[in-house]
Amino acid sequence: MPVIQIMPESLSNRIAAGEVVQRPASVVKELIENSLDAKATEIVIQIEDGGRELIRVADNGEGMERDDLLLAFEQHATSKLFDIEDLTAIKTLGFRGEALASIASVSRVDARTCNNETGEGFRLLINGGKVDRLEGAAMKRGTSITVRNLFFNIPARKKFLKSANSEYRHIVEIVRRFALARPHIRFHLTANEKDVYILPPEDLSSRLNRIFSKRLTENCITVYEEEPPLVLKGFIGTRELVRRKSGEQYLYVNGRLVTDRMMNSAVYSAFGGHLDKGEFPFFVLFLTLPSAEVDVNVHPAKTEVKFRSEWQIYQFVRRSCEQAIRDWTGESMENSQSGKLNDRDFFSGERPVHVTAPPRLEGEQLSFSEKVERDKPFQGIEKTSFSAANLSLDERIRRFEKSITEGVPDETHPLLTERNFWQAHGRYIFTQISSGVVVIDQRAAHTRILYDRAIKALEQASSSASQQLLFPITLELSPDDYSILLEIVPSLEKLGFSMREFGRHSILIESIPVDLQWLEEGKVVLQILDDYKNSRRLHNPVSEKIALAYAERAAVRRGEELTPAEMQRLTDELFQTENPYLSPSGKPVIIRFTLNELDRRFERN
Ligand code: ADP
Ligand code: MG
Repeated sequence: MPVIQIMPESLSNRIAAGEVVQRPASVVKELIENSLDAKATEIVIQIEDGGRELIRVADNGEGMERDDLLLAFEQHATSKLFDIEDLTAIKTLGFRGEALASIASVSRVDARTCNNETGEGFRLLINGGKVDRLEGAAMKRGTSITVRNLFFNIPARKKFLKSANSEYRHIVEIVRRFALARPHIRFHLTANEKDVYILPPEDLSSRLNRIFSKRLTENCITVYEEEPPLVLKGFIGTRELVRRKSGEQYLYVNGRLVTDRMMNSAVYSAFGGHLDKGEFPFFVLFLTLPSAEVDVNVHPAKTEVKFRSEWQIYQFVRRSCEQAIRDWTGESMENSQSGKLNDRDFFSGERPVHVTAPPRLEGEQLSFSEKVERDKPFQGIEKTSFSAANLSLDERIRRFEKSITEGVPDETHPLLTERNFWQAHGRYIFTQISSGVVVIDQRAAHTRILYDRAIKALEQASSSASQQLLFPITLELSPDDYSILLEIVPSLEKLGFSMREFGRHSILIESIPVDLQWLEEGKVVLQILDDYKNSRRLHNPVSEKIALAYAERAAVRRGEELTPAEMQRLTDELFQTENPYLSPSGKPVIIRFTLNELDRRFERN
């Protein structure tokens, strides 16, 4: 039987204390966590007036003894953590001994508990933190905590509560998040005495079916990846479920519901170029890892964690999701009659997947069934347009051909031999064409070439050619920059950078794109990162932002001397781009003077 103790100050000082009770939903969260920690298999949640009037969480867990019931409401009283060392191996959701004390100090609490089968339990009444009464009470084994009139003694906080409806939605969302994490536990939620959820014990996929719409569950694919000691499992939604609003990302680390920007971006990156900034896919993902690898003591509400090796987790999550998408699209391909289907199905959300309920795996903590059967009705319709990025590939080729035939006279090319090039002021390249002379801005031309190459590289699945650095470069970043860098690492890798984690918030650049011969390699990554940060609010696709940042940073500078061979190559490559006349930022690249024009200027007609 757990025994509650008040933790010594030396320990309480080291746990991330803070405002636990912010709104009714936070009370619900803490009470459900306590019920789960008490090994309940059934949790009943009742709320009235969005939780502002009443919140009751009742469970069939192990209950408390009389003295523990009294102690439970003291500051820093817990049965779960006695030593800071224990924190690295914490298995319970709670560990601070703060929640009940905080809740009781701002409401009227009626707590009842019984830890045996005799039917004799105890009831404790607390008013604004002051114990009112402790008495015997008849009840079954378990604990029921009723919280009335939240913030009745702090009018300023009470004023900040949102409408009953909005608080209600927060509570439903919290219950939903727990219900997903613990599908084998029975949850019953009522609001103003009306049933909201009645969820019998089941496996994850049937719980998913019960909680979400049919459309949603039909558009999910399974993720299951094990790379001991890491395991990732769950579901991700197809492109069909992508929304312009976040909020449908359900992340759990060792069964604890968390929000984690790094993990989110790992999942997003698995979508490749099929997700724009400001678009959010649906997912429910459970990451399991050794508890020593993750610090849960970083946020007062325990909703954030810190990974010891963020980089490794990031790569693992991303790989697992990519694999899931590949597996699924691979199967679709096998099942297709034309054999022509590809990942468009996933990214277009064209072909529904049914998540059905397989038998429950006994004794599994998250009750997740690894192999969820998927029913893949073949539709045989290949969608040809599904994202702007992909659409434009054909379009680009078409435009390229058009620009060549319409723009540059055909006779241009044959005349471009090395001896025809002349560089002025380290900036402009002059060359002769059959109809006259052209002047090329060397930097603008190179930017155009690199931009096109980058866009193509980002659309491809594999990485571009890279050159190994003789002396790898270390970059030390701020935690913020580091997490933004994680977002763009997949893109940088496609461009030909290869990098790895090197200590906390540092990376080691081991190779760089072959194009990058003009400048300091380390700085370019920082500059791309800066440009990317600055362009984050822009609405164009991520790939365009990165391609532009890369091209501008890697392009030959003004003032750089070029050999005739280099000038020729630059010009040749320029004419193979989508639009040789305009730089990616819209400035002219080439100016043409026709012979007629020159003759006219020299008054030769
Ligand atoms: P923490 O969960 O961090 O320990 P709380 O203030 O939430 O702190 O709870 C204090 C203690 O009260 C817990 O450690 C636990 O022993 C006991 N307790 C709280 N809720 C329950 C419950 N529903 N069933 C059994 N014991 C409980
Ligand atoms: Mg708790």
